[in-house]
Amino acid sequence: MEKVMTQKNKTIEFGVDYYPDQWDRSLWDSDFARIKEMGAGTVRMMEFAWAIIEPREGIFDFTLFDDAIALAAKHGLKVILGTPTATIPVWLHDLDPSIMQTHPSGGRRAFGIRRQPCSNAPVFLEAVDRIVEAVAKHYASHQSIEGWQVDNEIGHEGSDRCVCAHCRKQWSLWLGKKYSTLQSLNETWGTVFWSTTYSSFDEIPLPVKDMHLLQNPGLMLDYMRFMSDSATGFAARQVAILRKNLPSHVWISTNLYAPPTGTVIDLEEMLKTMDFPGFDNYPVWGDMEEPIPYYFNSYVLAYIRGLKDTGNFSVFEQISGFQGHACLGYMPSEKEMIKFTHQAVALGADRIIYFRWRTAASGQEQLCYGILDTDSQDNDRLAAITENISDRSAEYNRFAALPFKADACVVYDRDNSRIVKNQYLSKGINIPISIFAEAGYDLEMARSFAPFTLFGINADVKSVQSLDLSRYKIISLPLYQIADPVFVRCLEKWVRAGGTLILGWRSGSRDMKNHNIAKILPGEFSELAGIHVRKFESLNSKKTKIRIGLIPAKGEVWADIVEPVTAKVIARYSDAKKHYKGSAAITVNSVGKGKVWYLGTSPDPVGIFFLYRKIFRMSDVRAKFLGMGLEVVRRKSVEGKDIFVAVNHTAKTKRFKGKRIKAYDFRVIG
Ligand SMILES: [Zn+2]
Repeated sequence: MEKVMTQKNKTIEFGVDYYPDQWDRSLWDSDFARIKEMGAGTVRMMEFAWAIIEPREGIFDFTLFDDAIALAAKHGLKVILGTPTATIPVWLHDLDPSIMQTHPSGGRRAFGIRRQPCSNAPVFLEAVDRIVEAVAKHYASHQSIEGWQVDNEIGHEGSDRCVCAHCRKQWSLWLGKKYSTLQSLNETWGTVFWSTTYSSFDEIPLPVKDMHLLQNPGLMLDYMRFMSDSATGFAARQVAILRKNLPSHVWISTNLYAPPTGTVIDLEEMLKTMDFPGFDNYPVWGDMEEPIPYYFNSYVLAYIRGLKDTGNFSVFEQISGFQGHACLGYMPSEKEMIKFTHQAVALGADRIIYFRWRTAASGQEQLCYGILDTDSQDNDRLAAITENISDRSAEYNRFAALPFKADACVVYDRDNSRIVKNQYLSKGINIPISIFAEAGYDLEMARSFAPFTLFGINADVKSVQSLDLSRYKIISLPLYQIADPVFVRCLEKWVRAGGTLILGWRSGSRDMKNHNIAKILPGEFSELAGIHVRKFESLNSKKTKIRIGLIPAKGEVWADIVEPVTAKVIARYSDAKKHYKGSAAITVNSVGKGKVWYLGTSPDPVGIFFLYRKIFRMSDVRAKFLGMGLEVVRRKSVEGKDIFVAVNHTAKTKRFKGKRIKAYDFRVIG
């Protein structure tokens, strides 16, 4: 709490990711001088340097980082250190090759990349404890070190899933702890069918990918929970070691990545022991032909911010050039690159560390273009960042360090994000963005978040587990299949008192055991939504026509055939090709002083505009359609005023409240 309160006195912090391990020492002094000249106050380093610090088992050499940190301090730069556990030295691999992960797809990880060892492998964990303790003790009293990043992008690149022998052993123990009896496990998973009843916890396999069909859905969900516990436990043991050794003013965080539900890890749980969320902000990456839409990035940034109640977050890697590992794509102009910073700050970032000072000449990250190229010459990117820090910090400082507050919240649930990774229901949300990440749930979340951005309503993203209903006037709850009856009763009380609840298709279709619910859909929500759903169709990649009043629009992904009981029909299916033409698609039910909206289909952009305009008019939030490309959030200024922060995401001038906002620029109004 004390740390949150002191944010008021803070100003926004800028820095760069600097890897002294990659550069000749002759460059360090001028690099740090130029970083300082750029206006940065911080350098972040060390997260991949295990082999340098512990070249042989138990033999430590801190010389390189001692020298780099001392020189940075001489230039007045503060330092963020990463615990160097995301890449291992080869001696650790050779000590026990069984520490390397085996992915459910069958691939066994070989030495030489990153995020490869298993967080259930005892020899790896012992080595992690030792290196973290060593760096924490060595740098504990160093005045220039302001904070620590635990590991690097925990769970990324498929490392959130492993089926090795160490995992198999822990899996049996984990299941034994969760289910006191096998009868309970067999009943929860429904193993009686297909001859899979288990008689010992040791018999239960890990889900290795098979030729065709999926493993038991109960087993799959528990496996993802188990993998999450393995990862959060891995982070927590590092935090415990750091806390034991570091002074209390030194903060601890970690750098997360998008999409936020692409991983099975419960990120909120992982951050419980840390001070604030950290994020690597790349709105465009690798072979992408254009950046993700700005309102999708707004959802991602809100998700990250919502992982703690601090109301702010740090960006540990902010795009400065263009990036990739194998393939490169879209190159943002300097103005657009700086615009990504404006957006992050508008949405709650109070620390921006640019990735990276200089493009790597060789080795890994050779295609991660940074501020400088390998020629080290001054360039347009350096000039743009320098100018932005110098000219705009005063405007950022009017609001950046104060917590972001919102009237609306899009709510997720980690188990519900997990179950659609396998049973994705519709090809419309089967979005495998890589062999290790599935973005379908994020896409539905972002679709639910976009209207708030487009209508200028501040919105948070919180989990069912951490949501404080009393803070919000509107709650949007997409893809909430496994519905907790206790939470549903809380929502009901909140709606009766005046809240606006927006439910998505398939709501309440499962009970807390992940069984199909033994009630008419939407299960626990039937009375609250005032509807029944007995029939539905997966639209997959097709769309179907709907009418919102007289306005024609389209429904995507899914079609619940909604039967109103007490609810009023807002939209009907209007597609002549569908046998359910004329049935209700979207309804609203009045409950006490509040309203419950039920969206039986995912509206297309036209549908989003007309539907949400109606929803917002019938609620008591201030909404104004901003047009595409303009994002406006309300923030509190340090002088205590209510201000607007407007970000122009386009290459053309925009206007808000009579003020001009230049291409890719931002403006504080009020
Ligand atoms: Zn494993």
